[in-house]
Amino acid sequence: MTKRVFNFNPGPSTLPLSVLEKIQGELLDYRGSGMSIMESSHRSPQYDEVNESAMALTRELFGLSDDYHVLFLTGGASQQFAMIPMNFLKQGQTASYVDTGTWSAKAIKEAQVIGETHVAFSGKAGEYKHIPVDDELDVPANAAYLHITTNNTIKGTQFHHTPKVGVPLIADMSSDIGSMQRDHARYSMIYAGAQKNLGSAGVTLVAMRDELLQQSNDSLPTVLNYKTQAGKKSLYNTPPSFPIYVMNLVLEWIKEQGGVAAVEKVNAQKKDLIYGMIDEHPNFFKGTVEEAGRSWMNITLRLPNEELEKKFIAEAKEAGLIGLKGHRSVGGVRISLYNAMPLAGAQAARDFMQEFMSRV
Ligand SMILES: *Cc1c(COP(=O)(O)O)cnc(C)c1O
Repeated sequence: MTKRVFNFNPGPSTLPLSVLEKIQGELLDYRGSGMSIMESSHRSPQYDEVNESAMALTRELFGLSDDYHVLFLTGGASQQFAMIPMNFLKQGQTASYVDTGTWSAKAIKEAQVIGETHVAFSGKAGEYKHIPVDDELDVPANAAYLHITTNNTIKGTQFHHTPKVGVPLIADMSSDIGSMQRDHARYSMIYAGAQKNLGSAGVTLVAMRDELLQQSNDSLPTVLNYKTQAGKKSLYNTPPSFPIYVMNLVLEWIKEQGGVAAVEKVNAQKKDLIYGMIDEHPNFFKGTVEEAGRSWMNITLRLPNEELEKKFIAEAKEAGLIGLKGHRSVGGVRISLYNAMPLAGAQAARDFMQEFMSRV
């Protein structure tokens, strides 16, 4: 008998059960081809169908017009931290970044290798508890772009608005893509490693406006130039075909749920269960960030002391609630509620919080 737990791991993370079952069913003989999609040529008709479908679903679910190129790249979101300034930061320009935590800081570090970099807002002094409103952003006039991280996976904050700026907006959406409705067309580029909300590790989804793509630096090595993969439908070299296949199934799953709007509704119920508990018992469960910037995907909290936190995490694990430990850099408890976590998982976490509090 297969025993599935509620998996709250921050990434790689839980996948929809129906997607895993579909993969299982298709693993040995992919749709009559007599082989796994893993064993198929990336030039085969069956892989072409997967590739086209994943591109079309990305456009459909995120409301992106044909002006956008959809790319499936490798190297994780981390490689995008380097490729973005390599492609778009030119002499005489500045790369502008909003620093809302660990991942933003890593992106900034890469840009500094390439050229002039500027921090439009830093949450560092305020321990990254705050998400800035537009008035707090200081974007230089010569900025090639403004980069934001929509969800701060480690510190537990999230942008609930899209900044209005006069320069191209680029967003790392690795940990909240597809979780809430956004005006994605206001972003010149979005990207996300698949392993949190879109599937398995190994592929990074990138969507960018043609207007931005045309700005890219042509004197780069072929594989690091966005134009290369855009011109070849991500088939310049062998793509991570299996992770792309998994991502396509997750995109189909989002569509079956009723699209991003329907997924957002469930996500709102999930986060209300947990934040409700935190707000009702502030002396036991202490939220770590400002209310306006609370993440719906990664809920971070502290218990009255570290001993209780350890006990909470260990006993939750015993009860089949896995992966509730806060990131090693911040400690505490983190409850990750990605799209594929069912409402029943959030309810189980809430019930456990209640039971634990009344017992200890
Ligand atoms: C996990 C994460 C990353 C790192 O992704 P890799 O695929 O491991 O490079 C980057 N940004 C955010 C917001 C993340 O949550």
